[in-house]
Amino acid sequence: MKRVYNFNAGPSAMPLEVLKEVQDEFLDFNHTGMSIVEISHRSAAYQEMQDDTVATLKKLLAVPDDYHIVFIQGGGSMQFVMHAANFLKKRGGYLNTGVWSNKAMEAASFYGETYEVASSKADGFTYIPKADRFVVKPDTDYIYMTSNNTIHGTEWHDFPSFDVPLFCDMSSDFLSRPVDVKNFDFIYAGVQKNVGPAGVVVAIIKDDLLKKVCRDLPLMLQYKTYVDHDSTYNTPPVFNIYFVNKVAHWLDDNGGLAAMHERNKKKAAIVYGVIDDSNGFYRGHARVDSRSLMNVTFNLPTKELEAQFVAEAADHDLIGVKGHRSIGGCRASIYNAVTEEGCQALADFMKAFQKKH
Ligand code: PMP
Repeated sequence: MKRVYNFNAGPSAMPLEVLKEVQDEFLDFNHTGMSIVEISHRSAAYQEMQDDTVATLKKLLAVPDDYHIVFIQGGGSMQFVMHAANFLKKRGGYLNTGVWSNKAMEAASFYGETYEVASSKADGFTYIPKADRFVVKPDTDYIYMTSNNTIHGTEWHDFPSFDVPLFCDMSSDFLSRPVDVKNFDFIYAGVQKNVGPAGVVVAIIKDDLLKKVCRDLPLMLQYKTYVDHDSTYNTPPVFNIYFVNKVAHWLDDNGGLAAMHERNKKKAAIVYGVIDDSNGFYRGHARVDSRSLMNVTFNLPTKELEAQFVAEAADHDLIGVKGHRSIGGCRASIYNAVTEEGCQALADFMKAFQKKH
């Protein structure tokens, strides 16, 4: 078996230990004599696993008691719609820092007025706006933000706070660092970057927020349905939740989110270090103060060299370093499961490529 260094942006690298554990118990989940994908979601064995997943996530993130964690299908894109369906009465404010916040804002406009509280759009989403530039209009129902901008490679290092509810899409840096959950009323993350296979969103909802639902909706679009039915109003994506369980335990066993954050800082420094020491051969897309620890985005002197970089990287088993089609260039996603060794291999390759060209 050959495993490559995987820098895909999502779906992306998962911890090898977890993949092996899942493989080992795939035919017999917790002594049931059945696979996790074969047991009833109404069984005690399933419920115990789901409860443990919620408890482990709550422990990792120190989630306060007045929040619920639920599992929802439909990916991040369904949340672009659902948050507004439930809470956009008059107007929603958006911290527009990338393609995904922009898409959320567009999707939300189906339900009412949306506007930018701040935006880095005019500058190619290269930075995270500062709080002194924020403009919050009266009667704003909530403010929506994206903690890590997967495509542009920027990340909020300090979170803003507001006196209206704050919603956060944490899809691409979820469980990569500690966050203060009580600063937010609603957090969600599609799991397919750091936490598991695409197909489920982990949503963390403050109980008080559910009192602010502003319209009647079909049951499947109401957050309340997921909370009231403990994520099992209908059949939940059992395998995905099971996988999240394994990753959550892997994090817990390896020192939790503070330890993961330290690891991620060290890994990112290895790759950004090469960019910074390259005399302009590699140009980072993100402004230095806004750099993401998860997605390192950069350009080379020409498009031809970028294509050659991607191709030669693949020859060295460094996979997935092509930038998103919307901005081009190169991107190395170095999520939790990407090892320091993987980052070093990429850094060594980058240095050698520069020397050669
Ligand atoms: N938010 C962020 C930050 C993302 O990176 C993505 C996808 N890469 C999405 C939302 C959209 O998620 P999905 O593809 O699950 O709809």
